[in-house]
Amino acid sequence: MPIDLEPCCKFCKSDRLTEFVATERMLRLGGNFYYSECLDCGSLQLKDFIEDFSPYYPKDYYSFSTLRKSSSSVQFLKTLRMKVFLSTGLQKIAPLYGYWLKKLKPRFKDRIADVGCGNGQLLYELSVSGFRDLHGFDPFIDRSEEISESLKLWKKRIEDSDLLFDVIMMHHSFEHMEDPQAILRSCYEHLNPGGRLLIRCPVADAQIWKEKRALWVQLDAPRHLIIPTVAGMRLVSERVGFSITEIEFDSGDFQFWGTVLYENGERLDHSKINAYLSAEERNALQEKALRYNREGKGDQACFYLIKQD
Ligand SMILES: [Zn+2]
Repeated sequence: MPIDLEPCCKFCKSDRLTEFVATERMLRLGGNFYYSECLDCGSLQLKDFIEDFSPYYPKDYYSFSTLRKSSSSVQFLKTLRMKVFLSTGLQKIAPLYGYWLKKLKPRFKDRIADVGCGNGQLLYELSVSGFRDLHGFDPFIDRSEEISESLKLWKKRIEDSDLLFDVIMMHHSFEHMEDPQAILRSCYEHLNPGGRLLIRCPVADAQIWKEKRALWVQLDAPRHLIIPTVAGMRLVSERVGFSITEIEFDSGDFQFWGTVLYENGERLDHSKINAYLSAEERNALQEKALRYNREGKGDQACFYLIKQD
C-alpha cells in the first residue's frame, strides 16, 4: 500500500493531486509504484516510501562505470578547444557533453560542484579542459578520492560540505532526490553571491508524457522521485530565492525509442530498437525531438538559475 507522506505537491504546494501507478521497466523488475500528479502545476512525485533502492541501481548502472582518462596530448587539445569555445561560442567545436557551457560560461578559476557526479566523468572532462577547482558529490560512490589537484570526488551530499561554490550543476540527478525545495535551498546556501545553478532533468511538460503516461521512458519508476514542470520548477526555485534566467529544452529521440521499447514489453535495451524502428523512422524522430524542444514540449530541460547578489 502506498504511504501518503506528502499530501501536497512538493513544487507548488497544491493539495489537488491525482494518483497513478507505474511499474519498473528499465530492468523489467515490475512492481507497482504509486505517483502523484499535481492538478495545478502538473509536476509528478513518487508517493511510496522505498527504504532500500539498491535493487533498482545495479552495479553496472551507467553512472558508476570506470573513469575514462585522456592522454596528455589529448588534454592539451581539450584545453585549447575549451578556451576557443568559451571565447567564441563556436558551436562546431562545442564538446559533445556540454552544449550548456555556452550559456553557463564558467571561468577556469571558478569553484564548480557536480551534485550526483557518479564516476566523475563530466568533471574529469572539465579538469582536462582547463578548469581548476572541481568537486563531485555522490553518496553512492565507493569512496572519496582525489583524482587530481583540480578534481576531488566526495562520498557525501553537498549538504554536508563546508565549501562555497561559484557554479553548482545537477545533470539528471535532481529527479533522483526526494525533496526539491530542500536540495535547492542547500544549493542556494552553498553558492557565493551571484553564483549559478544549472539543473538538467526530465520535465512533465512533455508531450510524450501526455500521450503515453506511465509508459514514458523518462518516468523511470521508481528511480525518479520527482519530475517538475517548468511552472513547478519556477515556483520552488523562487520560493528558495533563486531567479531563473533561462530554460532550454534539450530532449532527444530517446523519449521516443525508449517509450517504443516499453510499449512492446522490452527492457531498456538499445540493441532492440532496430526491431521496432527503421533508420528513416529514427531520423524522423530526431527531427521531431528538435521540433518539440522549440515548442516547449520536449521531455527534458536545462534550467539556468542565479543567486542574486
Ligand atoms: Zn504542483
